[in-house]
Amino acid sequence: MHNNSPSPVRVLIIGAGFGGLGLAIRLRQAGIEDFLILEKADEVGGTWRDNCYPGAACDVPSHLYSFSFAPKLDWSRKFAPQEEIFAYQRQLADDHGLRPRIRFGVEVSGAEFDEARALWQVTSTGGETFLARVLVSACGQLNRPLYPQLPGIERFRGEVFHSARWNHAYDLSGKRVAVIGTGASAIQFVPQIAPKVARLHLFQRSAAYVIRKPDRAYRSWEIALMQRFPLLQKLDRLLKYVQHESRVLAFSVFPPLMQLFRMSFYANLRRGIADPQLRRKLIPDYPMGCKRILMANDYYPALARDNVEVVTEGIREVTETGLIAGDGREREVDAIIYGTGFAATDFLAPMRIIGRHGRELNQVWREGAEAYLGTSVSGFPNLFVLYGPNTNLGHSSILYMLESQFSYVLGCLRALEERGLRYLDVKPEVQQRFNQRLQQRIRHTVWEQGCTSWYKTADGKNTNNWPGFTIAYRQLTRQPELADYECVR
Ligand SMILES: Cc1cc2nc3c(=O)[nH]c(=O)nc-3n(C[C@H](O)[C@H](O)[C@H](O)COP(=O)(O)OP(=O)(O)OC[C@H]3O[C@@H](n4cnc5c(N)ncnc54)[C@H](O)[C@@H]3O)c2cc1C
Repeated sequence: MHNNSPSPVRVLIIGAGFGGLGLAIRLRQAGIEDFLILEKADEVGGTWRDNCYPGAACDVPSHLYSFSFAPKLDWSRKFAPQEEIFAYQRQLADDHGLRPRIRFGVEVSGAEFDEARALWQVTSTGGETFLARVLVSACGQLNRPLYPQLPGIERFRGEVFHSARWNHAYDLSGKRVAVIGTGASAIQFVPQIAPKVARLHLFQRSAAYVIRKPDRAYRSWEIALMQRFPLLQKLDRLLKYVQHESRVLAFSVFPPLMQLFRMSFYANLRRGIADPQLRRKLIPDYPMGCKRILMANDYYPALARDNVEVVTEGIREVTETGLIAGDGREREVDAIIYGTGFAATDFLAPMRIIGRHGRELNQVWREGAEAYLGTSVSGFPNLFVLYGPNTNLGHSSILYMLESQFSYVLGCLRALEERGLRYLDVKPEVQQRFNQRLQQRIRHTVWEQGCTSWYKTADGKNTNNWPGFTIAYRQLTRQPELADYECVR
């Protein structure tokens, strides 16, 4: 093992997705230059680097799904496609001179807090070690693809890949394809591949509520106008923000309001699917909003195609040549594509993070991850988690939540510096009280009305979602309350 960084950096960030890039920009803007980003891949981007499947796009309006401190005035569409978001991220890295601060191809395997020196010792899978005063995890919630355990999958002789690891070298034209899962990714790529493939068998465990997406290309005069008067972009962003924020009322405050979205769902279903039998298959058996509400205009029409079959009987086993469904029939296929999402409740795993008194984070979180304000974890001083536990949203932009977290982390860095503190460790009772209240609120949300979802652990604890208004979260994270922390000099 060699130590390539003998002197500690002030801030070490794990991950160069929107979280890592955004914080790095904010650090530079605050005059903090002593930081390093470790990124396991060979490019920035995270989600938008990895999810390059056909049809990938955001489902939050582009002006809201970009940083307020780095606005982009020429998005091509109301909801930007993946290539454009990924290009925006690369541009952020270039424009803000971040690339020299990023070590690509370095995967963090663990970190241990050395209390005597008040330093995090970070190790990589390649055996390198790094020292840091403050450690920030920016690994996202949706970074590690989830593969279902299909009996017999090892026998299958065809092509197999996950939507987040799309094999672009494999030509799907004329192939017989099985798609497993009907989540946010599947509803985007199925309409793209359906016209190309010979047959598409869509294995659906649970139907999704899919409503229309108010998407369209920006007209050239709209883009020109926005470039001429950047205030218009800000206004549009604000408008979209307020529009989305009001949806919390239906998710968390008064779930019966979901009825409005239900009408929109039924209209979309009727518009896309004429066959009553197929329609029945596509009506979810859980309350709307309990799982993520999806948006697409081309999904239902794709399922109505003659070469597409929706299989709802489950998968009994995989053979060398196809899949046997619960109805006993084998569907012979050339390729299996997983649209099965991510290990969202795992958070920082598989990294081994060891805090004070030798406590390991995965152990502390064995009954479900929790943090104070989604960022600080008691016993793990000077560690900040971006897009951490209970900071995901069902109704608005994650970038808004990330921006709140950036301010909070900056506030903590300032406190450390100005007060000459060695470390900040959130008090256990503060974290506990915060999470008790949070879980109490979650109990009254639509997510608790009877479904499993990626927001929850196997035991049913919602570890992922923020149950309130994002403006409330912004207020709470405006600056750290030092009384919440054990401040050690
Ligand atoms: C297909 C898809 C569509 C989405 N659409 C939307 C949307 O429309 N609106 C919205 O608000 N959100 C959306 N999201 C959520 C999205 O993940 C967040 O908005 C945001 O991109 C998260 O950024 P991040 O930096 O926190 O995490 P990520 O983008 O996941 O980046 C994490 C980075 O950390 C790196 N990393 C992980 N572990 C390690 C390690 N051990 N060592 C070194 N590097 C590591 C990864 O390689 C990656 O680059 C979507 C997610 C997916 C998967």
